[in-house]
Amino acid sequence: MISRVAFYPGSFDPITCGHLDIAERALRLFERLIVGVATSQNKNTLFSQTERVAQVEHAVSQSFPKAGSRLRVVGFESLLIESMRQHEARVIVRGMRAVSDFEFEFQLAGMNRALAPDIETVFLTASEKYHFLSSRFVREIALMGGDIASFVPPCVAVALRKKADSEGKTLRATS
Ligand code: ADP
Repeated sequence: MISRVAFYPGSFDPITCGHLDIAERALRLFERLIVGVATSQNKNTLFSQTERVAQVEHAVSQSFPKAGSRLRVVGFESLLIESMRQHEARVIVRGMRAVSDFEFEFQLAGMNRALAPDIETVFLTASEKYHFLSSRFVREIALMGGDIASFVPPCVAVALRKKADSEGKTLRATS
């Protein structure tokens, strides 16, 4: 019997409507979903892990008010599979946008299977309207003053505007 608890890991720097779409569909498939926000020490993230966890918590509570205890958000630092074992999750949920995601995701799933053969990775394909959407482009557009309101939940749009303002000030102060 496959686990009824799924784990959706990512950097979520920041969480976008594409991520929320995957979470919504995973909630239809599994009894419980844990969204795991990685520390991403090797990535230079725009938001700290604490900020990202708070954004994801806020976004999921607004988007899925009925999910209740079926949906949890956690930050994790350890190896993904160790964190999953702590939470008794046996399925990794990942989103797949285009061919460009395939190679990385395929390798990641293979590595995780080698480390933990009892854990399965399930891929959900992105909805067409979010195929082009990535956290990276959202960050870049926001920092250049572009409008990202239709790509991210409202709390993230506010946080990105603040970040863009403070980065603008820093740039002006150092130039
Ligand atoms: P990571 O840094 O681990 O790649 P991300 O936060 O960028 O994490 O993404 C987490 C997962 O969500 C990945 O599987 C990624 O492919 C998926 N994802 C990201 N953006 C979208 C989107 N627009 N639609 C569907 N899935 C997405």
